[in-house]
Amino acid sequence: MKPAAFDYLAPSTLAEAVALLARYEREGTDVKIIAGGQSLMPMLAMRVARPELLIDLRRIPGLDALHEEAGQIVIGAMVSKRCAEDSALIRDRQPLFHAATQLVAHLQIRNRGSVGGSFAHADPASEYPAVALVLDMEMKAVGSAGERVIPAADFFVTYMTTSLAPTEILTEVRMPVMPAGTGWAIKEISRRRGDLALAGVAVTLRLGGGVCRETRMAAFGVNPTAVRLTAGEDALNGQPPDPAVFARAAAAAANALHEPMSCIHASSEYRRHLVKTLAERCLAQAVERAGRSAA
Ligand SMILES: Cc1cc2nc3c(=O)[nH]c(=O)nc-3n(C[C@H](O)[C@H](O)[C@H](O)COP(=O)(O)OP(=O)(O)OC[C@H]3O[C@@H](n4cnc5c(N)ncnc54)[C@H](O)[C@@H]3O)c2cc1C
Repeated sequence: MKPAAFDYLAPSTLAEAVALLARYEREGTDVKIIAGGQSLMPMLAMRVARPELLIDLRRIPGLDALHEEAGQIVIGAMVSKRCAEDSALIRDRQPLFHAATQLVAHLQIRNRGSVGGSFAHADPASEYPAVALVLDMEMKAVGSAGERVIPAADFFVTYMTTSLAPTEILTEVRMPVMPAGTGWAIKEISRRRGDLALAGVAVTLRLGGGVCRETRMAAFGVNPTAVRLTAGEDALNGQPPDPAVFARAAAAAANALHEPMSCIHASSEYRRHLVKTLAERCLAQAVERAGRSAA
């Protein structure tokens, strides 16, 4: 299928883009922002979305910035996933985000698809929302009322829905540099390499005094949006890092999931089973990395 006809504007400043969004929203025009087009173009082609106007962010300077600032890594919304994957700063200073980026789709899609586009798209099977919850990331949005910073816990609302207003542009995402001694892991199961995950788990933790501490776990591909696995975190914190504890914590995380999604590729019970298995493997790998990093 071909997309329905639409108009197209490519503003050259952020202020212009914000003003255009506000104006067309006021006039009742169905407007969509386009970034890398890797999710939006298939939706247009399938006519799942039929916007009257696309506003392209590609010509706006500054949205492709990537730097470290006051202990945080700041990634402009238009930084491609390929650039994030190639960034030594991200690889060395925030390896969980780096590993998550490598799991996203295929090289061709990572070449065009933006980091900001994935956050704004909020696919429940995307790796990024789960990593954002684990790392307490922040999203910066700019609209006609000014700018605001949204914590990850408030950003992802439900299935493909964020707390961005239709007239707001996501301009950057921020994450803390990973502190030394932190163990981390991210694992997923998909039908083919590069497909969106049927289920996945991301973890960070620390070791201290012979027990696990500060565990953060989240699952993706399971519920309409990524979810923190707090039952698993509680079952692990204060416990010694041994396989029986990992199994108990993973089971607690999986059992506490609220009605995992079901589709032709994976039943609800299979997704729950995947979360248990992946969480157990993630915990073992994160503990091993925490030990190595502390040594
Ligand atoms: C075959 C295939 C496999 C894939 N596998 C994965 C995967 O494993 N994991 C994964 O995470 N993703 C996957 N994706 C999605 C891919 O990562 C997309 O690149 C991403 O979802 C969207 O980024 P984009 O820049 O292409 O955004 P676009 O497609 O241009 O936009 C997506 C949506 O976000 C909005 N938007 C974009 N940028 C902004 C912004 N700055 N501010 C406000 N709104 C904005 C748009 O209006 C649109 O609604 C896959 C896609 C395909 C086609």
